[in-house]
Amino acid sequence: MNKPLDLKEVMIDQATLAKRLRQETSGEVMTDSASRGRYATDASIYQAMPVAVFVPKTAEDIATAIQIAAELGVPVLPRGGGTSQCGQTTGAALVIDNSKYFRNVLDLNLNQGYVEVEPGIVLDHLNGSLKQHGLWYPVDVSTAGQATIGGMAGNNSCGSRSIAYGNMVHNVLGINAWLANGQIAEFGNYANSAGVAKQLGDFVKGLANTLQPEIEAHFPKVLRRVAGYNLDIFHPQSELPYTQDGSVNLSHLLVGSEGTLAYFKSLKLKLAPLPKHKVLGIVNFASFYKAMDSAQHIVKLGPTAVELVDRTMIDLARSNPSFKKTIETALIDHTAQTPEAILLVEFSGEAHAPLLEKIIALQELMGDLGLPGSVVSMPDASLQKNLWEVRKAGLNIMMSLKGDGKPVSFIEDCAVPLESLADYTQALTDVFSKYGSRGTWYAHASVGTLHVRPILDMRRDGAQKMRAVAEEASALVRKYKGAYSGEHGDGLCRGEWISWQFGPKINEALAEIKHAFDPQGLFNPGKIINPPKMDDASNFRFSPSYQVIPLQPALDWSAWNVQNNPVTEETTAPGTGGDPAMGLAKAVEMCNNNGHCRKFDAEVMCPSYRVTRDEKHLTRGRANTLRLALSNQLDVKDETSPLGSDAIKEVMELCVSCKACRRECPTGVDMAKMKIEFLSAYKKRVGHSLRDLAVAYLPKYAGTISSIPLLPVILNLRNHIAPIAKLQEWIMGISAQRSLPIWKGNTFWSKPKAIAPYQFSPEALSNQPGVVLLADTFNAYFEDENLQAAITVLTAAGYRIHIPHKSQNKTKNKEQNTCSKEFCCGRTYLAAGMVDKAKETLGELIDHLAPYAQKNIPIIGLEPSCLFTLKDEALVMGFGERAVTVSQQAQLLEEFLASKAKAGKLNLQLKAASKPVLFHGHCHQKSFAAVAPAMELLKLIPNAEPQLIESSCCGMAGSFGYEAEHIEVSKQMAEASLLPSIRKSPDSWVVADGTSCRHQIADGTQREAVHIARILAAHLSAE
Ligand SMILES: Cc1cc2nc3c(=O)[nH]c(=O)nc-3n(C[C@H](O)[C@H](O)[C@H](O)COP(=O)(O)OP(=O)(O)OC[C@H]3O[C@@H](n4cnc5c(N)ncnc54)[C@H](O)[C@@H]3O)c2cc1C
Ligand code: SF4
Ligand code: SF4
Repeated sequence: MNKPLDLKEVMIDQATLAKRLRQETSGEVMTDSASRGRYATDASIYQAMPVAVFVPKTAEDIATAIQIAAELGVPVLPRGGGTSQCGQTTGAALVIDNSKYFRNVLDLNLNQGYVEVEPGIVLDHLNGSLKQHGLWYPVDVSTAGQATIGGMAGNNSCGSRSIAYGNMVHNVLGINAWLANGQIAEFGNYANSAGVAKQLGDFVKGLANTLQPEIEAHFPKVLRRVAGYNLDIFHPQSELPYTQDGSVNLSHLLVGSEGTLAYFKSLKLKLAPLPKHKVLGIVNFASFYKAMDSAQHIVKLGPTAVELVDRTMIDLARSNPSFKKTIETALIDHTAQTPEAILLVEFSGEAHAPLLEKIIALQELMGDLGLPGSVVSMPDASLQKNLWEVRKAGLNIMMSLKGDGKPVSFIEDCAVPLESLADYTQALTDVFSKYGSRGTWYAHASVGTLHVRPILDMRRDGAQKMRAVAEEASALVRKYKGAYSGEHGDGLCRGEWISWQFGPKINEALAEIKHAFDPQGLFNPGKIINPPKMDDASNFRFSPSYQVIPLQPALDWSAWNVQNNPVTEETTAPGTGGDPAMGLAKAVEMCNNNGHCRKFDAEVMCPSYRVTRDEKHLTRGRANTLRLALSNQLDVKDETSPLGSDAIKEVMELCVSCKACRRECPTGVDMAKMKIEFLSAYKKRVGHSLRDLAVAYLPKYAGTISSIPLLPVILNLRNHIAPIAKLQEWIMGISAQRSLPIWKGNTFWSKPKAIAPYQFSPEALSNQPGVVLLADTFNAYFEDENLQAAITVLTAAGYRIHIPHKSQNKTKNKEQNTCSKEFCCGRTYLAAGMVDKAKETLGELIDHLAPYAQKNIPIIGLEPSCLFTLKDEALVMGFGERAVTVSQQAQLLEEFLASKAKAGKLNLQLKAASKPVLFHGHCHQKSFAAVAPAMELLKLIPNAEPQLIESSCCGMAGSFGYEAEHIEVSKQMAEASLLPSIRKSPDSWVVADGTSCRHQIADGTQREAVHIARILAAHLSAE
């Protein structure tokens, strides 16, 4: 029998373990506290420091690591995406990450419809490669972009369409795995098994036969049961048989074993044909109970999914301008009160017509159930896709609740038979209110597994409430003959409920199985067998003893420094949350480790992870490291501020401040702002380099350089004479492989008379169609043709233009007199961690712009990173209301023009394009949803046929791509999709608004990319 783990013994072996792994394998070995801390959590409430982290490169590495661990008595914990919700991926063990190097398809057999893969392959990537064959692996978990097949098998994961396809256990055909002694065994059809797999199978069969009455009495008869080991392979209890022919497959014993029995080397999976057509019927309910009660009847029509969205989520979507229109396509009458619930009923198949008949059948059924006219028919594929997106976004909004109370997942996948679903959900709602909480319900009505998370504060009374709610929920599950663990596995959260579910005899048998497979008890101890109590606070990420160190951040994080009401979800006033780090810690703690930042599909997040696949170069890894630093859990020695420590530098090194996480992270973790905090603290510790100063003060000295005759020409020599570039690289760390922006003697600002026509007071400008146009450093000194083009376009559209310039200002003090005459957004100071300087310079600009903004005069920018500083960082610098007013008027040129065009007020005559247009969005543009207006505007050019390049960050990211130590990563980011897409279209215009994006494109493809202002100006018709 396994004993609970003695952590002290384990810790003693760390040094030997690391030494041997380094000597005997080719994998990456990590033992520092920050690296281990990044692997100490998953998407649960738990945390356990690994003994060490190992990222193997070859199968031999894994085999050797397992052997070394066995010899040293160190536990082993295999890990995929680390997105488990119950703590099964946390443990004081050697954590082995499969997700970086084990991503291959090993065998694809189209005739027999199976694929064999390595455990670290991500579901979406597998399905991406199968699409061309009209096949897919249909266990479509919500985390499809991050979940690995190994992890999905480990958890016996289930997708939205499990009613049609089953869970993992129904779709795995075989597993090759290492046993705890390093030996490989092949688990598949029991009748054909041999060797150690057969011996183990025989042993389990013996237990199952002895316990047949117990199995029949205690295994819930629902599809969604994932607790314990699948002892019922020998006496099937699942609604859907594990195999089609009734045979026994030993790999099913390993599915759901959470890394406790064997370490998967490869998995053979059953594929399904990709359905050609899908239709959606959306049933609107005035009563939640009725919705739940109807599910049992709806499933009889044979849908592939029946998914619930409750009123709270519908209202959240309706209150969000981006989702309002889409969610209202699902409503019978959007002028009426929001329904209490909707059910999304999907039918899919080979032909469209029979599916439409299914919708008619659904309408008739609802009529029979007393709800005639309650079904919205949605045959259109794009509308369906949008609606599924809204359902996901609704959950994200719910998860973004600020404050210490968080929606906690611990009973969110109990599965009950459909005939009891209505009574179960009503009773559980009453339980929540009894404990001062509330649940928002969503997800898989088809299989009786509704997700619901009460809001609990684990630092205060959360543990007690969790226990109380769990006890009452379990009584309900028993009453309705359901499964307590129906989707997300056992882990630390539900382990103790296994014996509750199956009774002592089966529980004992499970322990015997564990012992037979893993006599030393080294594979993921404490999960399934000998689990701790779910509310053991020593396992919590945020226990009552969790403490944040007092700290004064450089930016204003008070919006995060709040608490919330678990019933109304209202938050207290900014700054009242009691965070000793003034809100920064609470902002960092917003990361719940769901792993969404590990995606590789559309959008941007997280470019540094996309090229490195390292946890430390991932938004999640950064947030975890910051959290550990701010709560004093890292070994940070002799460093004044943990925030500015080397451990944080290591994770921030490749963060390109693209702001993608700000938008795409479900909980809004804003790492770009956090990087500013780090830079501020770090540079205070180590000082600024020459390169920092060169970047930071560029707006200050650009005017001087351009005004000294011949100096621009001399400086430009650096781009032509390699040794100068080399010398600069050596002295300043600016890569010699890069060309630098070209200095000019003749710039926008060198013609003072030329700007005279663009000087208006707010009063004068407000009397006419007028705009403020920002002349940023890059578009005024280096590419003034963009500024000129913008002036041409705005003038042609009938606008008077004011260009901010200090000569118009009355100087307030002596210092201002000596400064350059141009305003600046302070971006370059922020990039160098000089927050005070940024505040000073941005403050001046805000002061200048506020009177214009107060008169509702649009403030237009050309360079996205500069313009969005006014909408983003300016709001956390203590400028108050005036910054908010300015931010409301700040917009890119294309946002302004596209909004006018939409309102029918844009008077621009554009001639036809002679070649198509490719558009690349700047990351900040994407983060602020400003790509769509650019595309709309480009569509106004006849024949332009604009195509959006699906790209993440271009890799330049301000000064990042110029830095010698980052040049390679910068190029890799660009090569991920941007540059290849441009090369594929040699005859297109390439439009990119970011100055550094244009530079990257020029360096990588020798093609000129132009600002949108220039393509518009070039297509202005002469009339
Ligand atoms: C927002 C959100 C939504 C989710 N939605 C769903 C959903 O729709 N359906 C669902 O079922 N789950 C869902 N989950 C839970 C989780 O995403 C899934 O269980 C997922 O399949 C886990 O994959 P992973 O790669 O992250 O596994 P990990 O968390 O890394 O590992 C899971 C388990 O598998 C074991 N394991 C990993 N690799 C191996 C290996 N090579 N050999 C042996 N054991 C191994 C691990 O030790 C661990 O016990 C959701 C989670 C989140 C955060
Ligand atoms: S940073 Fe955001 S997306 Fe990434 S794991 Fe944390 S919460 Fe999820
Ligand atoms: S700002 Fe960009 S690079 Fe940095 S963590 Fe966020 S997504 Fe990743």
